[in-house]
Amino acid sequence: MSDSAREAPPRHAPSYPFTVLTLFPDMVRQAVAHSIVGRGIAAGRLDVQAVDIRDFTTDRHRTADDVPYGGGPGMVMKPEPVAGAIRTTRERQPGALVVLMSASGRPFDQATARRWADNPGGLVLVCGHYEGVDERIAEHYADDEVSIGDYVLSGGELAALVVLDAVARLVPGVLGNQASIADESHEGGLVEYPQYTRPPAFEGHAVPDVLMSGNHAEVARFRREAALAKTRRVRPDLAARVVEVVIDRRRPANPSRPARLGRPRPGDDP
Ligand code: SAH
Repeated sequence: MSDSAREAPPRHAPSYPFTVLTLFPDMVRQAVAHSIVGRGIAAGRLDVQAVDIRDFTTDRHRTADDVPYGGGPGMVMKPEPVAGAIRTTRERQPGALVVLMSASGRPFDQATARRWADNPGGLVLVCGHYEGVDERIAEHYADDEVSIGDYVLSGGELAALVVLDAVARLVPGVLGNQASIADESHEGGLVEYPQYTRPPAFEGHAVPDVLMSGNHAEVARFRREAALAKTRRVRPDLAARVVEVVIDRRRPANPSRPARLGRPRPGDDP
């Protein structure tokens, strides 16, 4: 989406729909009541529903899990209640993307958040628990399966809330100042430049002079350089990618070869 489209949400624009399918709906309801997401809901820009997967169980004990085939520790979430919750939600929310939270999913990132924020059908976030969800849900019911990082949580709720927050703040009209998005970490392939506010000296540590100089060009240069330096220091993996993209852009145009942004491979043109 272009920045101008982000800046001017049409009056009475429909709210962006999120549904979280979970065994712990109160965890989700409490978390979304605050801060930017809470204000986005109050302003009618976001709609967040938490649906209890247990409501889709069919036995007297409302059983949502069972022992794993093949043996091993723990319990696995049964497919029928999860599938039932997804089917019902798809009917209510046509065009929604159904995303399974999973430690073994592909990494969730800012580019994905941006793409999903543009999906008018919104998102359905499915939270696992125990040892996870029967694999047939990932295979036959979910459109995507994402992980929020290389660690294991005890449930998908916190992961779903991370995804929800990252997407919600990109929905037009949710953030007060949409211009702040463009400069942020991961929007341009770098982490953000360091930010300072008053006082000018804090416990003997001064704010860099250039930020108080009023020279916009110098400030912009300082920020660019500081962002690159910090990216090199804390995220050499990202910095290497940025350098490759710049080198690729500098290559003379060759119409017979499509532009590629990946790592150089043996046999590539110099
Ligand atoms: N046995 C699984 C982990 C299950 S953790 C494994 O080894 O992969 C229980 C649930 O927490 C998962 O079903 C998933 O919904 C959620 N979860 C755990 N770690 C996550 C992560 N890094 N990202 C997204 N969801 C995660």
